[in-house]
Amino acid sequence: MRGRWWIPPAILAGILGGRLAGSDLPAEKLLLVAAYILAYNLGFYRWSLDFAREAARYGPARRRFAFWQAALDSSALFLLTAFSGGLASPIRFFFIGHAVLIAFLLPSRSTYGLIVLMVAGLIGLAASEYMGWIPPHALGSAARSLETSRAASQLFTEILFLATALFLSAFLTASGKKLFRQNIDSLRQRCDALTGTNKKFKTLFSMIHALGSAQHLDQVLQTVTTEFTAALEVKGVSVKLLSDEGKSLRYAAACGLPEAFIKEKVVEVDKSPLNKRIIEGEPFVTGNVTASEMFQFGEVLTEAEIRSVLFLPLNLDGRIIGILGAYCERPNRFHQEDVDFLRLAAGIVAIALENARAYEAVEKALRERSWFMMRVAHNLRAPLAAMLSILEVVCGGYLGQLNDEQREYLRRLDRRVRTMLSLISELMFLARNREEKLSAAQAATDPTLLARRIRRTFQDKAAEKRVNFMVDAPEDLPPLRGQLEVIEQMLENLISNAIKYTPTEGSVNVRFSQTNGKIRFEISDTGIGIPAADKAKLFTEFFRAENAKSVAKDGTGLGLAIVKEIVDNLDGRILAESEEGVGTVFVVDLPTAAAPEKTAATTGPSDPTQNAMEGLTRHK
Ligand code: ADP
Repeated sequence: MRGRWWIPPAILAGILGGRLAGSDLPAEKLLLVAAYILAYNLGFYRWSLDFAREAARYGPARRRFAFWQAALDSSALFLLTAFSGGLASPIRFFFIGHAVLIAFLLPSRSTYGLIVLMVAGLIGLAASEYMGWIPPHALGSAARSLETSRAASQLFTEILFLATALFLSAFLTASGKKLFRQNIDSLRQRCDALTGTNKKFKTLFSMIHALGSAQHLDQVLQTVTTEFTAALEVKGVSVKLLSDEGKSLRYAAACGLPEAFIKEKVVEVDKSPLNKRIIEGEPFVTGNVTASEMFQFGEVLTEAEIRSVLFLPLNLDGRIIGILGAYCERPNRFHQEDVDFLRLAAGIVAIALENARAYEAVEKALRERSWFMMRVAHNLRAPLAAMLSILEVVCGGYLGQLNDEQREYLRRLDRRVRTMLSLISELMFLARNREEKLSAAQAATDPTLLARRIRRTFQDKAAEKRVNFMVDAPEDLPPLRGQLEVIEQMLENLISNAIKYTPTEGSVNVRFSQTNGKIRFEISDTGIGIPAADKAKLFTEFFRAENAKSVAKDGTGLGLAIVKEIVDNLDGRILAESEEGVGTVFVVDLPTAAAPEKTAATTGPSDPTQNAMEGLTRHK
C-alpha cells in the first residue's frame, strides 16, 4: 500500500525530467492522471482502515479490495500510456510488471479478466493512433514518423507481442504462486504433525515425571487417566486391571467418565469377547459405539453419549495386566497414530503400575516387620525388667550374703541385662518411628531449653569419667521445627557416644549456632575417632567399629541409625568428620520452625563439616 503513494510524485518528476530533456509531454493531462491516482489512493486508504479489524483481514472483502486496486491501477497505467506516446511509449513495459503483480495478488479469473481488458484497451489505443485520433508527441514521435502501412503492421506485431507477454507473465506467476501455495500447505501440514508429535512427547515426558513421584497405585492411576484425557483431548480415559487369575477385569480408575461407569463394574472376561480379545494382546478401535453389540456395558456408553472408543492391553514383558481405554463423544475419533501413541504410553503405564504395586508390597512388608519388631521387643522387655528386679534383690544381699566372685558374676549379668534392655528400647524406638514417620512438623523446640537439658543430663557423667564437657548455645537462637523429646534423643545419642569413646582427660564440646535459616549442632570430641574404612557404614543398623568394641564392650550399634532416622524425618542433614586417634565431629543441621518444609534439606552451606576438624583442634 505504501509504495503507491510514490506514483504521483514519480509522474511529477517524469514531467519535469521530460521538460528538461526537451520532450513535448502533455503535462496537464499527466498531472490529471497523477491527481486521479492520488484520489483513488486516498479512497483505498480510507477502505483499508477497515482491515485494521482482524476479522476483515482475510476473506471476500479483502479480495474485492485487491481487485479494485488492480483495476484502477490498470486504468491509470492505460491513461499514462495514452498520454505519453501511445503504444510506442516506454511506459507499456510497466504492463508486464503490473500483470505479474495482478497474477500474484488476484485469483486466476480476475487476473485473466483484467488482462483481457488491458489488451482490449491497448488494441483500442493502437486503433486510435492508426486513425490519427491521438496526436503525436515527444515519447511517441518515433512511431508517428513511420509510414502508415508499415505502422499498421508494426502496431499489430507490437500488440501481439505485448498481449503474449502479458498472458505469459500472468500464467507463469500464477503457476509459481500455486507451487508456492502447495509448498506452504505441505509445510503447514508437517508443522501441524510436528506440533502434534511434540505435544504427545510432552505428555509422555510429563507423565513419566509425574509417575516418578507417584508411588501408590491410586496416585499412579489418577495421574495416568488425567494426563491422557488432557493429552488426547477426549472425554475420558479408564484403566481396568486384570485379576491375578486372569478371570475378571476391575475398573480401577477413570477420568471424565460418569460415576456409573466404574462403580462396582467388574467385567467377566469369559462373558466379554471384546475384552477377551484385548487381553489376548489385540487393540480395539471403533468410531461408532452404538452400532457395536460387543460391549458388556453398552447402555452406559450410550448414556454417556460416547461414540468412539479405543482399548489397548497393558502389556508388561508379554504379560497383560489390564486394559487402557480412551472414550470420545465424536464419531471416528481414533486413528492409527492414536493407537501407536497409546500403545507406547501403555507400556510406560504398565511399568508404573507394576512399580506402584511393588512399592506397596514393600511398604506392607516394612509395616509387618516394624509390627513384628515391636511385638518381640515388647514381649522381651517384661521378663528382662523382672530379671533386673530379681538381680537387685540378690545383689542387695536380701537372699543371703554373696562372696566377691558371686558379686562380680552378678554385676556382669546385670550389665548384660541392662544392655539388652537398652537394645530393646532402641529397637522399639526405630520400629515406632518408622511406623509413625515422626515428622512432628507442627511442634517447635526452644534451643535454649534443649541446651539446658543436655547440660544437666551429661555434666555428671562426663565429670565421672573426667572428660571436659562444654555446651555452648547462644540465647537468641530461633525455635527449631520438631518435638523437644525427639531432638533431645538425637543429641543424647551423639553426646553419649562422644563421652563413651573419649578417654579420660579428653574433651567433648557441643556447640549450637545458626546458619542460613537452620540451627547447626556440632558435637566434637577428642576420642578414638572412626577408622576411615568404616565411615561409609556409620549410620547402618548394628554397625560398630572394631576400635569402639575394644573401648566399650557394650553397645547396640543402633544409636546412630536412630540419629539418622530422626534427622531425616525432620528434613535436616547430618555429616561426620573423623580422624582415628584424633577425634570426631558430628554436624547436624535442622530447620527452624519458621523455615518452609522440605527446602531445609536442600539449602544451606555446601559442606557443613567445613572447618569441623579445625574446630576439633580448637576444642582440644
Ligand atoms: P554404639 O555406640 O552402641 O556402638 P552407635 O550406633 O551409637 O552404636 O554407634 C555406631 C558406631 O559408630 C560405634 O560403635 C562407633 O564405632 C562409631 N562411633 C559413633 N560415635 C563415635 C564417636 N564419637 N567416636 C568414635 N566412634 C564413634
